[in-house]
Amino acid sequence: MTAYFKSCPNCRKNWSSRDELINDETIALIGYHFLRGNVDGGLLLFNHNTEDCGTTLSCKVTGFVDLYQGELCSNRYVRVILQMISKKDQAKQKRVS
Ligand SMILES: [Zn+2]
Repeated sequence: MTAYFKSCPNCRKNWSSRDELINDETIALIGYHFLRGNVDGGLLLFNHNTEDCGTTLSCKVTGFVDLYQGELCSNRYVRVILQMISKKDQAKQKRVS
């Protein structure tokens, strides 16, 4: 039995690791859903942008904490993740143009 990091609830695509998920060109981080009273913080929301899908996936932000190297503060590390992913997108755009 293979354990996947994340599966798309709509099209059933599987991502075996977090890196595979965030480096997938069809995956876009669209936001952060704060869960009130939840010590784990909240959920990162991703869109699966393919012709056949377009579903929103959610991942617990705790699985992404190590991407932020500083003090654990949900709003700040989410901002860092957003910056990181937007930088990746900028790099992609540079490569295309
Ligand atoms: Zn999908």
